[in-house]
Amino acid sequence: MVKETAYYDTLGVKPNATPDEIKKAYRKLALKYHPDKNPKEGEKFKLISQAYEVLSDPKKRDLYDQGGEQAIKEGGMGGGNFSSPMDIFDMFFGGGGRMNREKRGKNVVHQLAVSLNDLYNGTSRKLALQKNVICSKCEGYGGKKGAVEKCTTCKGRGVQVRVQQIGPGMVQQIQSMCSDCHGEGERINQKDRCKQCSGKKVVREKKILEVHINKGMKDGQKIMFSGEGDQEPGLEPGDVVIVLDQKEHDVYQRQQNDLIMKMNITLVEALCGFKKPIETMDGRILQVTSFPGEVIKYGHFKCIRNEGMPLQRDPFEKGLLIIQFEVAFPDNHWLPVEKLPLLEALLPPREEEMITDDTEVVELVEFSEQEQNRKHRGEAYQEDERPGGGVQCQTS
Ligand SMILES: [Zn+2]
Ligand SMILES: [Zn+2]
Repeated sequence: MVKETAYYDTLGVKPNATPDEIKKAYRKLALKYHPDKNPKEGEKFKLISQAYEVLSDPKKRDLYDQGGEQAIKEGGMGGGNFSSPMDIFDMFFGGGGRMNREKRGKNVVHQLAVSLNDLYNGTSRKLALQKNVICSKCEGYGGKKGAVEKCTTCKGRGVQVRVQQIGPGMVQQIQSMCSDCHGEGERINQKDRCKQCSGKKVVREKKILEVHINKGMKDGQKIMFSGEGDQEPGLEPGDVVIVLDQKEHDVYQRQQNDLIMKMNITLVEALCGFKKPIETMDGRILQVTSFPGEVIKYGHFKCIRNEGMPLQRDPFEKGLLIIQFEVAFPDNHWLPVEKLPLLEALLPPREEEMITDDTEVVELVEFSEQEQNRKHRGEAYQEDERPGGGVQCQTS
């Protein structure tokens, strides 16, 4: 039992979630609520990253499970100082070189929905993106060469410092972004501004990226387009990061390189053998057959070698196709009662049960939710009938 579930609730996972499930939940939510995509949800983005920071670290998760948020805040682990949501995001999505981050533009992360079929067969997708590119007319100067001058208001520093008297002999320095040059430190006269970019040095451009999805790629895998992020004068552009997001498949579930499917068979098939077709994701039909005399039990697993997911390194190699059997039993009265002895004669003999004189004979009824609630209703009724409850009984 965990003390609190708030962090788990934030990520939408159960308290017994695996590290993989926690990662996946963070990935989906962080992309959804990233300020680039959802500027109004800054607070939500922060909460998601705090929850992930705690739950992704086994020691912190342990501490949280035992003592809740209070324990994290008081605990010796950084005194409850959370990392910045952006740092966590960059770290998770491979922010690429935090060292030289100053000199690089930021990475742009996009999620791309793919089906399991896409990952099995491989495919390519065209993705249209809007991005900033250096203006071709002024080559990123924003105007004619020589027209760019230092901002006189801030003397090229980009910030304005205001000194304010807050009491006798007491002054306070207030620093703010220069409003004349918007922190750029330079200005271009209206008439000299580049017509194409209106002095902004960059223009918005549509860019088509061709994303190659190789056979065997995985949910959550990143495909990097190096240097395809927004361009900005004086900065090396960041990367475009495409994160694959696999949708659930109707039949197959993936587990690393293996595929798992359920197969329904009837009781006669389970006992007397079966022959069944399976359609693969590349359109082939496999025929599976049980051995004569073999009994398939409910929930039993079997597998087919080399019919799972293709390996990314070597797509001719595949994982396992694992089949879990579900056996459908016949309905009530499928066999007239008088014929039951015929069936019984064929089935393995039953074991004799010991019945003694003090055995109680009870009735077996269908289980249902109403049946279960009947008991709880009874308890509530009893409490209502005895005002004051047990305490009064004891004192009398
Ligand atoms: Zn321009
Ligand atoms: Zn200025």
